[in-house]
Amino acid sequence: MSSLPHEILTVDFCVVGGGIAGLCAAVAAARHGLAVALVHNRSVLGGNASSEIRQHIGGACFTGHYPDAREGGIVGEVWGAIRRKGGGPSVNDYAESSYVLLDFCWREPNLRLVMNTHVDEVNMEGRRIRSIGGTQSTTGLRFTVLAPQFADCSGDAHLAFLAGCRFFTGQEGRAQFAESLAPAEPRQLTMGNTILFQAEETKTEVAFEKPDWAPDLSALDIYWNLHPPLTPLTYGSWTFEYGGQLDTVRDAEQIHAELVKIVYAAWADLRNRFPDELARHRLSFISSLPGKRESRRVVGDHVLTQNDIVETRRFPDDVTYAGWSLDLHNPEGFYGKERPTTFYFFPEIHSIPLRCLYAADTDNLWLAGRDISVTHIALGGARLMASCGLQGEAIGIAASFAVAERLSCLETCKSQIGPIQQAILRDGGYIPGVPNRDEDDLARRATVSATGAATLDPGAIESWDRIGAGVGVAMPIVSGRLDALEIPVRNPLDEKVEMRAILQPNRYRRDFHPTAVVAERTILVPPGQSWAHFDFGWDLTPDLWMIHLFATEPSLEIGQTSQRVTGVHAADHFPDGKPEEFARQLGLPDPPRWVRRFNSERVASPESFHRTPCFRVTPPQAAYAAENVVNGISRPERLPNLWISGEILPQTIRLAWPEPVMIGEARIVFDDDMDLPMPHREVSPTLVRDYELHGIGAGSSTLLAEVSNNRLRLAVHRFAETPISALELKILSTHGIPQARVCEIRCYRGS
Ligand SMILES: Cc1cc2nc3c(=O)[nH]c(=O)nc-3n(C[C@H](O)[C@H](O)[C@H](O)COP(=O)(O)OP(=O)(O)OC[C@H]3O[C@@H](n4cnc5c(N)ncnc54)[C@H](O)[C@@H]3O)c2cc1C
Repeated sequence: MSSLPHEILTVDFCVVGGGIAGLCAAVAAARHGLAVALVHNRSVLGGNASSEIRQHIGGACFTGHYPDAREGGIVGEVWGAIRRKGGGPSVNDYAESSYVLLDFCWREPNLRLVMNTHVDEVNMEGRRIRSIGGTQSTTGLRFTVLAPQFADCSGDAHLAFLAGCRFFTGQEGRAQFAESLAPAEPRQLTMGNTILFQAEETKTEVAFEKPDWAPDLSALDIYWNLHPPLTPLTYGSWTFEYGGQLDTVRDAEQIHAELVKIVYAAWADLRNRFPDELARHRLSFISSLPGKRESRRVVGDHVLTQNDIVETRRFPDDVTYAGWSLDLHNPEGFYGKERPTTFYFFPEIHSIPLRCLYAADTDNLWLAGRDISVTHIALGGARLMASCGLQGEAIGIAASFAVAERLSCLETCKSQIGPIQQAILRDGGYIPGVPNRDEDDLARRATVSATGAATLDPGAIESWDRIGAGVGVAMPIVSGRLDALEIPVRNPLDEKVEMRAILQPNRYRRDFHPTAVVAERTILVPPGQSWAHFDFGWDLTPDLWMIHLFATEPSLEIGQTSQRVTGVHAADHFPDGKPEEFARQLGLPDPPRWVRRFNSERVASPESFHRTPCFRVTPPQAAYAAENVVNGISRPERLPNLWISGEILPQTIRLAWPEPVMIGEARIVFDDDMDLPMPHREVSPTLVRDYELHGIGAGSSTLLAEVSNNRLRLAVHRFAETPISALELKILSTHGIPQARVCEIRCYRGS
């Protein structure tokens, strides 16, 4: 009898599962100096975003519902790289994703990829995982990986399962976590799996015969009413969903077979329904593996629930965030009579604490992806792939502290959380409510100036839109005073129309929910075009303020711009019963009457994405001052938190110190418009393209870095440690706009 050839690897951190979560965990840890093994059971990386499944990476901003919420960090880099190969969100654009991801891994010298290897063995020493084992299908090689720290990014929590950790499956009953959206009793139902497919047009007619094994769908009308019927041709529809009433791990093969039958049946049905449009189309892609949405969720030291999300609870050990919505699919999937999914929007992007990202029953098993410690309801938004990527990056960084300090996950969380959070921010990440407190960052002690700075000004009117039931505008008022607000209006009537502006603070950055009326002004708008002038004469704390605009005549029009006016967002008013119903379902104290302006036009076109009303404010608001680059927050929150120059390039921003400082590293966060969802563009027009970095010391200037065609949000420059009294960043060009925009500058001594 022979035994399998065997290879033993000893690393610092072993990640199992090469989906987006695992990839980001492995890359982050490798960049933080750990020797990493990424063990993955497929020949293509990316999990559901791989070239074999081809689901596009989505994230917190949900096509714009939550402003400025797009994910940065490693998953932001991944996104950009995939888009460079494709462009949009269609399945075709993920044809090369696995190779883009391979490229990502191959660039990391500390990262060893072990592909085609299914992990099926876990060896424990008390509460610690000592090693894991798996067999490589292509070589027959048996791998054993020894490491002090492991991560389960397998989606199905295979490692945690084999390690004997507790986990959840199905839907928790309402009483278990007091979740209003949960069913009254626990149910073994999950979201189902999906096969994506695509068709392409050929030059001649293509025959297609429905295989006998494919069901007859002619009586099943519900699906075609729910989604634009030809969408699968260009996009790959997620509604071909099945298996939520089965066990998505144990019954995966049965589910796969049924999904293949559904795809062929649906294709036959589509061709019958649209004979003219589809006669020349053939099936060009059917994913070889269904994408999986939900299976096991491992119990951590905190279980994230609906209430944590809906109440916007922030935790001391927050390391990342998620948004999107609570997107809860109907377990009946394709054959269901009800809607295939329901999106429940909560008020603000939600936090995820580190305690959700390790298994409570072991000392050294981190979690990222859809197997983290959340309830079925809370998985609704946390499972989006960009969110999974951020979780992965967070645990990769946390593992580097655990390895360095020889700590368990829990000990790491208790004793290292501050440094972990700061490391995440330093790498370009974002944790709501956690600012830069990095003592080593010399930029925090610098005085900042610039050749010029823009003030809050949406610019010229580009189009007009009806005021309808009401329009809200969130705007940063930083001067402590709002004397007057002017809005361009067009009154289509022959008589004056009453218009009201209400000044209100809002509760969270992203929910437009007013908490009190501070001031209210009513004016009469004459027929035709004019500027509606509201005298407020009001002292305010510098903050994000809401102006709600109403008119007695809904056809009154407001002039608007489609330019990105950072920090300014528009909301629509919903006076009807829907918000009440929504609040009741979600357990919100007040109906969410104001929702960010959201229309299909915006989703389809980046040009219309930022559409907001134009306005003029008195006094001018210096919302984009140079000092913002060292204020500790590197993206728009309540205030814009970035420097925007005047409208001529080049422009220079300067950090100066009273005494010379030794600097060997500069980190610059450019504005890649984190409000714009990813599928739109490879880089945003706001991103700086060409720039120079100069060190000024002892009367001379040294060129520290010179970059052309930058495509990164976070630029890290390392150079020989140099004594300087000032650092100058000269912006020469951007990818589209004539202004320099910089969110953050950090300076460190050399490493
Ligand atoms: C059809 C569909 C549509 C979706 N739509 C979107 C969307 O539009 N945008 C979005 O962002 N998200 C979407 N999602 C959700 C998202 O894809 C998942 O939540 C996400 O992929 C989870 O990431 P993950 O890395 O945890 O798991 P996965 O993507 O499942 O990756 C885990 C990887 O681990 C590997 N693995 C498993 N077990 C082992 C083992 N024992 N040994 C080694 N390797 C192993 C698997 O092969 C897999 O590749 C969708 C999901 C589906 C199914």
